[in-house]
Amino acid sequence: MGYGFARDYSWLRVPVLDAHGEIIERHGMTRAPGLVVLGMPFLRKRNSAFIDGVGGDAAMLAGQVATFLSPAPWRRTASDPPAATRRSA
Ligand SMILES: Cc1cc2nc3c(=O)[nH]c(=O)nc-3n(C[C@H](O)[C@H](O)[C@H](O)COP(=O)(O)OP(=O)(O)OC[C@H]3O[C@@H](n4cnc5c(N)ncnc54)[C@H](O)[C@@H]3O)c2cc1C
Repeated sequence: MGYGFARDYSWLRVPVLDAHGEIIERHGMTRAPGLVVLGMPFLRKRNSAFIDGVGGDAAMLAGQVATFLSPAPWRRTASDPPAATRRSA
């Protein structure tokens, strides 16, 4: 049954699409560092593409993004707070 809905990633300027124009991802992680996706069918669970499923996936991916944005330990300066306190600030 057609319902007139289709995904359009023509705005996306990152090479993460497959031959069918769909984003290549695994559990919401793409091969582009720091680029994550949400709401995809079966992203992590059966309800990942539904209102009651997106929240759990968002929480998991927020952690991944926070880790990505955290400076590597060898790049931290003495004035940086510890990683644990930085994330909750
Ligand atoms: C056609 C269709 C039918 C669906 N039917 C159902 C259903 O019956 N039951 C069900 O459980 N789920 C359904 N879903 C899925 C459900 O809509 C999504 O799982 C849910 O809305 C995802 O929530 P979200 O908060 O991640 O994204 P969204 O609900 O899309 O919220 C994202 C918000 O961010 C805003 N936004 C985007 N970009 C920016 C920006 N740059 N700056 C500021 N704000 C921005 C948008 O305006 C939007 O308000 C349906 C989805 C579609 C497309």
